[in-house]
Amino acid sequence: MKFRNFKMVDYVVYGRGCFNQLDEILAPKRVQAQPMIFLLDHHFENNEALKSRIPLRGNDEIIIADVTYEPKTTYVDEIATLLKDKYGQVSGVIAIGGGSTMDLAKAVAIMMTNEGLAHEYQGYDLVKNKAVYKVGIPTISGTGAEVSRTCVLTGPTKKLGMNSDFTPFDQIVLDPELIKGVPKNQNFYTGMDCYIHCVESLDGTFLNTFSQSYGEKALAMCQDVYLNKDIWDENSDEQLMMASYAGGMSIAYSQVGVAHAVSYGLSYLLGTKHGIGNCIVFNHLQEYYPQGVDEFKRMVDKHAIEIPQGVCAQLSDAQFDTMIDVSLGMKLLWENALGTNWEQKMNRDILRKLFEKL
Ligand code: NAD
Ligand code: ZN
Repeated sequence: MKFRNFKMVDYVVYGRGCFNQLDEILAPKRVQAQPMIFLLDHHFENNEALKSRIPLRGNDEIIIADVTYEPKTTYVDEIATLLKDKYGQVSGVIAIGGGSTMDLAKAVAIMMTNEGLAHEYQGYDLVKNKAVYKVGIPTISGTGAEVSRTCVLTGPTKKLGMNSDFTPFDQIVLDPELIKGVPKNQNFYTGMDCYIHCVESLDGTFLNTFSQSYGEKALAMCQDVYLNKDIWDENSDEQLMMASYAGGMSIAYSQVGVAHAVSYGLSYLLGTKHGIGNCIVFNHLQEYYPQGVDEFKRMVDKHAIEIPQGVCAQLSDAQFDTMIDVSLGMKLLWENALGTNWEQKMNRDILRKLFEKL
């Protein structure tokens, strides 16, 4: 048996207000006159209070990350080319935002030191050179993108991350103050990404004690936030931020499962965002995760969240086939969920019926 030896984030600072330490964290990482580039989630574009706290020095620049759509490889190339043309090289790329902004920043940092186009690196261990220094600062919690070894991108032929040892951040800044006041539905969809990571990891065949330890803690925190508390309770922010981190650590050594495999098909075809897509799918996975789905429905009811229905109602056979192809391509996810003989348990017909329910 060969055990995976995976690269993790190098430095972590955690605490309410720790964003204020960013200047001193970045100072030793500055290379001559090369700027630090801050990729800022477009939600904060006019938030002068936050922008004034970003420690700009020399020719540092804030670039507004348009996260209307989840990051595309073409958008990564556009930003990396702009930075190379303007500065030659940069000292680092700092993401301030959600999973989309963090993934975008990881990919841009990689493309600053690797030749060609971003889509050429979608896959496992294809990145050749160490990226420029990169920092992740989440402003919404759940995806675990702050700790993961990938950055999910939509390319010309697939939705797949640059999964490599060069992908994790060098530094993350976990400041619960930054996620305060995320609108209720968005908070729930992204928070449920974490909850579903935990259910899929804990129920999966790849589970080991490393994954279980993180998964159980993250699950318990999600349950506390969404079953016992108000979403906007200050303590919920603290818990969600750490649940996202621990959930990400859990799947680092295991995998996600059925909800993710199916929701990837949905988002590839329809552009459905990751968090809400997972909720749309998980809502119908009683057969695979009975206890988790039951609990999920109680959380949905408690917070009066709207989970869209009928999203596949108007689709053609060819469109169903595209979703089924994308979904069945996620072999590791199916193997984790259903075991090594998963192909005997999951096929195009079963999947088609599942997609028709969504
Ligand atoms: P997101 O980054 O797409 O942001 C969702 C919305 O929340 C956006 O409109 C954004 O502007 C807004 N927002 C962000 N911070 C806010 C704040 N403090 N207040 C109010 N609004 C705020 O959402 P997400 O769910 O965090 O990320 C989804 C992305 O993460 C997808 O692209 C998905 O593929 C990716 N993902 C990556 C990994 C990984 O391991 N790399 C894992 C899971 C998901
Ligand atoms: Zn996820």
